[in-house]
Amino acid sequence: PPVMSRLPVGTATHCPYCALQCGMHVRPDGITPRDDIPANAGGLCQKGWTAGDLLTSPHRLTTPLLYGNPVGWDEALDFIADRLKSIQAEHGPDGVAVFGGGGLTNEKAYQLGKFARVALRTSQIDYNGRFCMASAAAAGNRAFGMDRGLPFPITDLARADVVLLAGGNVAETMPPFVRHFNRAGQLIVADPRITPTAKLATLHLQLTPGTDLALALGLLHIAIAEGYADKAYLAERVNGFEAVRDSVAAWWPERVERITGVPVARMRDTVQALGTARRAVILTARGAEQHAKGTDTVTAFINLALALGLPGREGSGYGCVTGQGNGQGGREHGQKADQLPGYRHIEDQAARAHVAAVWGVDPADLPGPGRSAYELLDALGTPAGPKALLLFGSNPVVSAPRSGHITARLAALDLLVVSDLVRSETAELATVVLPTTQWAEEAGTLTNLEGRVLLRRQAVAPPSGVRSDLSILAALARRLGHEFPDEPPAVFDELRRATAGGVADYAGITYERIAAETGVFWPCPAEDHPGTPRPFLDRFATPDGRARMVPVEHRPPVEDIDDDYPLYLTTGRVLAHYQSGAQTRRIPALTAAAPEVFVEMHPQLAERIGVAAGDRVRVASRRGSTEAPARLSQAIRPDTVFMPFHWEGVNRLTNPALDPISRMPEFKVCAVRVEGGTP
Ligand code: SF4
Repeated sequence: PPVMSRLPVGTATHCPYCALQCGMHVRPDGITPRDDIPANAGGLCQKGWTAGDLLTSPHRLTTPLLYGNPVGWDEALDFIADRLKSIQAEHGPDGVAVFGGGGLTNEKAYQLGKFARVALRTSQIDYNGRFCMASAAAAGNRAFGMDRGLPFPITDLARADVVLLAGGNVAETMPPFVRHFNRAGQLIVADPRITPTAKLATLHLQLTPGTDLALALGLLHIAIAEGYADKAYLAERVNGFEAVRDSVAAWWPERVERITGVPVARMRDTVQALGTARRAVILTARGAEQHAKGTDTVTAFINLALALGLPGREGSGYGCVTGQGNGQGGREHGQKADQLPGYRHIEDQAARAHVAAVWGVDPADLPGPGRSAYELLDALGTPAGPKALLLFGSNPVVSAPRSGHITARLAALDLLVVSDLVRSETAELATVVLPTTQWAEEAGTLTNLEGRVLLRRQAVAPPSGVRSDLSILAALARRLGHEFPDEPPAVFDELRRATAGGVADYAGITYERIAAETGVFWPCPAEDHPGTPRPFLDRFATPDGRARMVPVEHRPPVEDIDDDYPLYLTTGRVLAHYQSGAQTRRIPALTAAAPEVFVEMHPQLAERIGVAAGDRVRVASRRGSTEAPARLSQAIRPDTVFMPFHWEGVNRLTNPALDPISRMPEFKVCAVRVEGGTP
């Protein structure tokens, strides 16, 4: 019988997809929105409404696969454990790598980090959040001493007279977000495309791809020159203003207009709106962040917010719009190459001692930092790199930059283990595929884009034959000589102890509290602590409590356009699909709404290169090529083409050049040429 018919009536849980983590009821007749969760307050997008179809999908895996053949769980797990032992015996602990995902629950992210460092003793662990949030995280830590996507409740946005959103398309990626904008206020959007979000804006800054940093410098130059810097706030709460003021003196508006293509008058209007507002918010998202200068770009927008006196004031501030379902929690609990639970740095001796005590190991036995996500994938199967990879909650064949090369690296492994609910493109390459439970079939916590810890309740029994990632990790740990808990509440209790005293402190958060309070904001150090919706009101999380402004400089994209590759490629999402599409491309209503990849181009460009609407064209970069039908649109600049990255092939084109601080690849801009025009 269809799984939905076995659902209990009205289990309150959360969406399987994005970082808004909309509350929803799972009912026998389908999904309905919850109105008690502020993030969505009764709204859902198309993806959320159809999320129940994932539970009944005919594409679901229900038995482990070994070299593509069905096997029992013991055979699969014994095989994996034996291979892990022999590979590590030959190549050392770092011969095995682990790769996680920003959609995994907090419990899974925590368990994955512990599994890598305790059961495998490998330093080689990172996750796909490095491709998503890493630049904003690095910039937030640099400026505020803490990285929490929105350091205020999302409902604060309604109190802001002006919101500047740099590089985000929330109207399409997370539509219920839009209801939080103040309808009487101004929305200013910086984006190379006239996206659905830009269409809502009172002011659109249609910049050249890869020039967000120059734009932020120009806005700050104008703000200071025209007297909008908040001197009292800067004196009281910020270090480093003078050095930044001096560094932006060279970024006069006309120079910035030449680089960005944004008219000076629009920049002045933006600054005037922000500078005269009673309350204002500056937000960044992937369009500004996914660059080899992403950390500096976010820093430049934070500098602007600090100069205007916004962060740490109720109803104002700077925030980052997190993307993946547990993009926030996923980067707090130790699946990142350089982190231990509680958002602790792995080289901090006190942090190592604390976490090692919780794990019952000697701190000296904990490995140090490993490779970042792209560097890890790039090293797979090389003489000095890992020979085995355990992969949970990610699909890098579709989502990694320069994905053709990464696919070859995955294929060169001695052992690739993929845990997934469907046979993703990456699972197709795997030695062993482990069928896993999904969102409504298991309990767990996620931390949404506000830093609010939420409870995903189990609403339905999983199909026979699948196991949870926690159970898989515990079973493998046992075969490697370690006992791990495998039930979400027990793992969460351990996570609370491991994070106690850290930046992201969950010690006071319990499943019961989350349920009673519809989420608890971290840091929450004790059960009688109310949680922290706005952590910067009194002080920032730096040693002296003051925010840090850091001078940064614009530089061009790592790969600029030239005669051979004369167009910019930028990528993004469409309403119907989520991330690599492994889930949403298997839902009929969503594939009907958005059946295939396309390349969006301006009619002027199409005419110049002889392409008509619907023609199949080949898009090529220095790293590879792919084909797609052309979609003509006035919404894009004539020097730029856009492709949605939910389908395999698009990331064959993208540039893996890395940000020196965050190790974020330059997903959002590279040089391509378009060939073809074949009907
Ligand atoms: Fe909400 Fe995001 Fe799910 Fe859409 S995909 S329903 S915006 S959580």
